[in-house]
Amino acid sequence: MPGTYNLLLVAVSLVVATLASYTALDLASRISMLKHPASRHAWLAGGATAMGVGIWSMHFIGMLAFSLPIPLGFNPAITGYSLLIAICVSWFALHVTTRARLSSRGVAAGGALMGLGIAGMHYTGMAALQMQPGIDYEPLLLGASIAIAIVASTAALWIARMLSNMRQRYAAAKRAMAGLLMGTAITGMHYTGMAAADFMPGSICGAANGVDTQWLATTITLFTLAILIVTLILSRFDVRTALLAGSVTKLNDQIVRMVNHDALTDLPNRRALVERIETVVHNAKRAHETFAVLFLDIDGFKTINDSLGHSVGDEVLKTFARRLQQCVREGDTVARLGGDEFVVLMENLTSPDEAQDVAQNVLDSTERGHWRDGQPFQAVPSIGIAMFPRDGETPDALLKNADAAMYEAKRAGRATWRFFEASMNVAAMRTLQIQNAIRVALDEGYFSLHFQPKFSSSNELAGAEALLRLNHPELGLLTPAEFIPTAERSGLIVPIGQWVVRETCRQIQHWQALGLPVIKVAVNLSPRQMAQPDLIETMVEIVRAEGVPCEQIMFEITEAVAMHDAAKTTEMIQAFQHAGFEIAIDDFGTGYSSLAYLERFRVKQLKIDRLFTCGLDAQGHEGRAIVSAIIALAHSLNMEVVAEGVETTSQFSELQVMACDQMQGYLLARPMTGDAFGSLLEQQMARV
Ligand code: C2E
Ligand code: CA
Ligand code: CA
Repeated sequence: MPGTYNLLLVAVSLVVATLASYTALDLASRISMLKHPASRHAWLAGGATAMGVGIWSMHFIGMLAFSLPIPLGFNPAITGYSLLIAICVSWFALHVTTRARLSSRGVAAGGALMGLGIAGMHYTGMAALQMQPGIDYEPLLLGASIAIAIVASTAALWIARMLSNMRQRYAAAKRAMAGLLMGTAITGMHYTGMAAADFMPGSICGAANGVDTQWLATTITLFTLAILIVTLILSRFDVRTALLAGSVTKLNDQIVRMVNHDALTDLPNRRALVERIETVVHNAKRAHETFAVLFLDIDGFKTINDSLGHSVGDEVLKTFARRLQQCVREGDTVARLGGDEFVVLMENLTSPDEAQDVAQNVLDSTERGHWRDGQPFQAVPSIGIAMFPRDGETPDALLKNADAAMYEAKRAGRATWRFFEASMNVAAMRTLQIQNAIRVALDEGYFSLHFQPKFSSSNELAGAEALLRLNHPELGLLTPAEFIPTAERSGLIVPIGQWVVRETCRQIQHWQALGLPVIKVAVNLSPRQMAQPDLIETMVEIVRAEGVPCEQIMFEITEAVAMHDAAKTTEMIQAFQHAGFEIAIDDFGTGYSSLAYLERFRVKQLKIDRLFTCGLDAQGHEGRAIVSAIIALAHSLNMEVVAEGVETTSQFSELQVMACDQMQGYLLARPMTGDAFGSLLEQQMARV
């Protein structure tokens, strides 16, 4: 008895199968990112239901597309079983593909089981027709349909495994192609299976019940499509939130630790120390207390390092750190600033004598070299002491002055300590000079811009960052670290920042007049600028007046500033983007990275701070894991990642492997004048 097909329904079944496959692949990649067992299980169950319903309804619509010259129907119980089989098979498939490791043999075994499951679903579904006499299956085609199911399932698992890495480029497009392939394979299996079925002349369908096939097909199709689409949308939201809340909390902790700890000695680093001093200053001011900052620098360390090598140097630093902790009072903070510089923060002092006693104790112990563990060890520091509030009221001033006192101790013959005195401070003089210079710099034309190129991972010029320089007739060429804080405090950064944008636009116009390729330039924004209510309007005005499209300018906002008032930042970012500007989050990782906010910001680029790039070499596996996690996270939020401060080829190649989008650093190019950058653009043009 010959059967006929409704071609429209056949096409619908292919669409459903493709969408079901796409959903399955999408879920597989997302579920594998979930670390929390409860949400994993929930998603496995939900995902398996959606995928099972999808595969099953492809099959069922395929059955409805088929008609015989006799009335047909389906036994509900048996049809229910076939649906159950489809859901179980889907659960199994998702479970297998989302496990951390899946060997090739695992893929083959899983594919075989899954294929048999799908075939089982199909033939159970056929049995729901309850034909009298039974359907005769042609063995060759029957075998072919099972083989197709197994091959298609194996291919599906294999593709899912390949695509489970969210970091891949064009993951969505690849997944869509794979979904189409799988959908076609599943549909192919179904129709091969149907071709295998031989219906005896004079057969009757025991389950015929006169239900309208068209109606049933439409209902099931709509129902299935709704389930699949809702699943896709839900999985996007849920996994993203789960990711941001779960593994991201861990990533946050790691970042905070890395940012606040010195990897070598495990002591707090400069950043953590400065923060601690800030708190202590705050408390001491209220309670009218005094405290001391001791600045220690190991005498002759450079010689040890140069003559005995870095590994010996590292050992010395580690041991010194431990010894130092034995010499201070309980509750004092010992930190390493970098190199051979250490700081002891002593709180709750009654008089400077106590600080002096600890300094002397450190010297005595290190000179005698007698330690609790009996091991000989000699490394003696020079120590400078600054007292709060006498010698400074900010971490910066206290550290600077303790440092100046330490130099005085070195000059006095080393292995001794000195209290800070105003006469020691050359640095203070310089600060004053810089303050005066800033005030006249715009009028006198002291400022200039340098441009540092950003390169794509394939080494092509991808953009530039404008970096401000101050050219002083007496002080020489100053870098922003020396004058931006002063400009920021006085508020002069606002007109200076406007100058930077105007000058950047002029430079862009100049390059374009020379016929050079168009390039996007990033400009830094400081906190004071961000606080200006008319910031965006002003910037638009400047850029328009210079005749440059806003799209060519990207503003960099440091993470710390962005997180300060995340709600307001979100609004500002939107307003910037609305005006046509792009936004990058700068120095990412150092601002108590509330990673959860990143999703709201929706910026173009995330610039990973230099510290993490450095960590790729210095912090081994842990350093690499953090960077790789940040990149994966940023990509899952559709942001480009730029690594700053790339200084070594090993960092570069690590970042390339991690699919980092752009790199910036001394290895590739230092900041350069506008003309030098123009030559670079010219070379780029000659290459393409
Ligand atoms: P940033 O935004 O993090 O800029 C990158 C800084 O890292 C630049 O220092 C650059 O010279 C330096 N750098 C680039 N590659 C490497 C590398 O491989 N190794 C190392 N060690 N350093 C590298 P620069 O020019 O001294 O700028 C310092 C900071 O001053 C900038 O940090 C930015 O926050 C601020 N700044 C610069 N220009 C402006 C400006 O026009 N306006 C405002 N508000 N801030 C600015
Ligand atoms: Ca920057
Ligand atoms: Ca930066």
